[in-house]
Amino acid sequence: MIEGGCFCGAIRFAIGDGQHLVANCHCTYCRRISTAPFVTWLIAPVAEFRYTRGEPKELVSSDRGRRYFCSACGTHVACTILDRPEHIDIPTGCLDAPERFSPTADFHTESRLPWITTT
Ligand SMILES: [Zn+2]
Ligand SMILES: [Zn+2]
Repeated sequence: MIEGGCFCGAIRFAIGDGQHLVANCHCTYCRRISTAPFVTWLIAPVAEFRYTRGEPKELVSSDRGRRYFCSACGTHVACTILDRPEHIDIPTGCLDAPERFSPTADFHTESRLPWITTT
């Protein structure tokens, strides 16, 4: 089981173990919402994901995306894309053991900051 949660602990979740894709996203939405240069996502089947404590607040972040936050501490804990409803994206920064998940792909490299060297 892969476990994680927000900074304050009000939101906790669990994801079934598996060969989940881990990828860096360099899009401007991820950058602004996370206030980080890019976000490393673990992309999990929705059927393998569940909240084990609390419920996040939903933000309609674009016409095709929804972002989920802890309403107490503001941590961004998930993203869903309407085009692929079978998956949920979890920022590896809110996993309890992020070191287990190395990215193997980069998305939206057209907006990658020029000083970043990744996969
Ligand atoms: Zn929180
Ligand atoms: Zn993105």
